[in-house]
Amino acid sequence: MEKVRCLIIGGGPAGYTAAIYAARAAISPVLYEGLEPGGQLTTTTVVENFPGFPDGVDANSLMADMRSQAVRLGADIRSGAVSAADLSQRPFKITVDGCTEIEAETLIIATGATAKYLGLPSEQKFRGLGVSACATCDGFFYRRKDVAVVGGGDTACEEATYLAGLCNKVYMIVRRDVLRASAAMQERVANTPNIEILWNCNTREVLGDSSGVTGVRLERKGGELFDIAVDGFFLAIGHHPQSDLFTTWIKTDEAGYIITDGRSSATNVEGVFAAGDVQDPRYRQAITAAASGCRAALDAEKFLKR
Ligand code: NDP
Repeated sequence: MEKVRCLIIGGGPAGYTAAIYAARAAISPVLYEGLEPGGQLTTTTVVENFPGFPDGVDANSLMADMRSQAVRLGADIRSGAVSAADLSQRPFKITVDGCTEIEAETLIIATGATAKYLGLPSEQKFRGLGVSACATCDGFFYRRKDVAVVGGGDTACEEATYLAGLCNKVYMIVRRDVLRASAAMQERVANTPNIEILWNCNTREVLGDSSGVTGVRLERKGGELFDIAVDGFFLAIGHHPQSDLFTTWIKTDEAGYIITDGRSSATNVEGVFAAGDVQDPRYRQAITAAASGCRAALDAEKFLKR
């Protein structure tokens, strides 16, 4: 069975950054990229808020560059998805693609989170063409335009108020007659004049043409159908952290986000570290994921050299 000193799972900003640091620390990292090499960022187009790129950077190029930087420094980056994990004792036993077995002295979980979508075919069709699950990433492209945000939680309120600062008008599409968000966030929404809440409404279809989204068809409780004209449609109905494979051993919060120890990336299992969106329900940015990947690699290095 192959033995690895530092195994990194996940090919997003957290995983690649962990690989860069672990390679420079000479702990011979092996990284499995999973089913979506490049991570969530590859679902967007231009990244304008990653420092160091005054004119913005194409999301796929940014991820490809992070990957090649890790490879140049000596990281062994492989395609394949982890299908099983036994973290009951060290070395940890990891199975890739149902067949390859690896023993890892340390493990960095950087498997990310996926935004939840409504599951409409039209939503899928216009993904990246007006449909987005990240207002901080894509809101800038809708300056002075009208947009809609689906959801009534803290994320939806935060995204709606963020978008309200850029856009002409923001509709919040809320399926009940109350918001789930905290009182403070509700107050912020209520005090933002260009946000209009459409209560008791469900999205039936995202409307558009060859240039992208042009509107949304909604159904109000009771059955009334009506359309609103918008250029952007933002999902904010929650995320699902990709921690399912590890929850037998690794402690998570009730939503499944891995709990790390204080300011470090350490999980409750010695030698297992977590980085990026799988342990961060709050910031979820490429730059914060990258930073936590750096921390996880430094923690793994320290653990191996103790
Ligand atoms: P939540 O699960 O809290 O809220 C999801 C929202 O989406 C709810 O309003 C829910 O409606 C709605 N929703 C879910 N599925 C659908 C659907 N199929 N159609 C329409 N609407 C749907 O997720 P969040 O991402 O908002 O928050 C996750 C966690 O992160 C929370 O604990 C939150 O407090 C925290 N957070 C904190 C922030 C802060 O403190 N600044 C910022 C952002 C998040 P319903 O209410 O009817 O179920």
